[in-house]
Amino acid sequence: MSNKKSETKAIRTQTKRTEEHEHSTPLFMTSSFVFDSAEHARALFAKEVEGNVYSRYSNPNTNEFEEKMCRLEGADAGIATASGMSAIFSSLAGLLEQGDHILACRSLFGSSHQILNNILPKWGIDYSYGDIDKPEQWESLIKDKTKVLFLETPSNPGLDLIDLEWAGELADSHNLIMIVDNCFATPYLQKPMEYGADIVLHSATKFIDGQGRGIGGVIVGKENYIDEISTFTRHSGPAMSPFNAWMFSKSLETLPARMDRHCQNALSLAQFLEEQQNTAWVKYPFLKSHPQYELAKKQMRQGGGVVAFNITGGYEAATEFLDKLEMLSLSANLGDSRTIATHPASTTHSKLTKEERETVNITPGMIRIAVGLEAIEDIQADIEQALNG
Ligand code: PLP
Repeated sequence: MSNKKSETKAIRTQTKRTEEHEHSTPLFMTSSFVFDSAEHARALFAKEVEGNVYSRYSNPNTNEFEEKMCRLEGADAGIATASGMSAIFSSLAGLLEQGDHILACRSLFGSSHQILNNILPKWGIDYSYGDIDKPEQWESLIKDKTKVLFLETPSNPGLDLIDLEWAGELADSHNLIMIVDNCFATPYLQKPMEYGADIVLHSATKFIDGQGRGIGGVIVGKENYIDEISTFTRHSGPAMSPFNAWMFSKSLETLPARMDRHCQNALSLAQFLEEQQNTAWVKYPFLKSHPQYELAKKQMRQGGGVVAFNITGGYEAATEFLDKLEMLSLSANLGDSRTIATHPASTTHSKLTKEERETVNITPGMIRIAVGLEAIEDIQADIEQALNG
């Protein structure tokens, strides 16, 4: 399978077929599994033989979903989790101890900021933020106890990029565990492990699901780190339900086809928005005006499904625009087949201070559009009437 393309791996990774010879993997809705004998139970617990014991540890559906994600990302092992945030928290809690330090990019999803700023410090785990436009600054932020380099690229919602090759070299030269939140790109568009990432994380809630149905997450990476994190997850219990794993694994079958369409629609919309008089700026990795356009072309197959823009007129103009939308959904999610408009400053990133938002360019007039799979003409027509009507 390793020589096959992503499109094939996403479909043909099937880890379990029962005696019914079903074509499509069934749902294994069971909390526990039956042992053949007392000796079999002992051997399973001692990890002398392979097999499922209890669905907090593993289940054929989570196994298949993890295996697919590993093949797509080029990773050795994986852990499916109940949400993207539990994937992030479990990775950091599983790898770090009191006194350790995390170096992270400043442009991060709002809840990731909360974990670094307010949750991990309760257990004595400290952090520093590096700015993406000041790569020379990062080296000086590394301390004796810095253990993890935590990155998100493209970032939510500002669509800033981290140069993965540069980050891989930084992590390597300082012996840091490089963790990348690859949620916006998906493994179809970007493979951080090829640049030296040790762990790749996802909110499966987004493009992996693709239809806004379920909450989930996944951690994939090098075997030694995944083993360490799995000690934390097995006992603290943020397991993905078999039903969600079954659904996400099926969703992955269409990930490449859906991402092609998301990206095509998003690029057209970004170009359209650039021509509008009421937009102060438009940000999309594959727009020539993106300050990191060349980098985007180097490390991403296409630009992704999210576009951000700043409406002239600030907060009032932004809320007026949102309230005028007729077809687009107002929601805090992304990666759905339905196009979603979000105002990050008052929702997903409202817990940051005004100054923190300003440093990552989350302005009062910023709108994030998670471009769906509808006809681009209909998406544009709704946005045009809300902008200019
Ligand atoms: N990482 C990124 C980049 C996100 O955008 C999100 C959610 O929006 C998450 C992580 C958290 O994922 P979840 O909502 O599945 O916990």
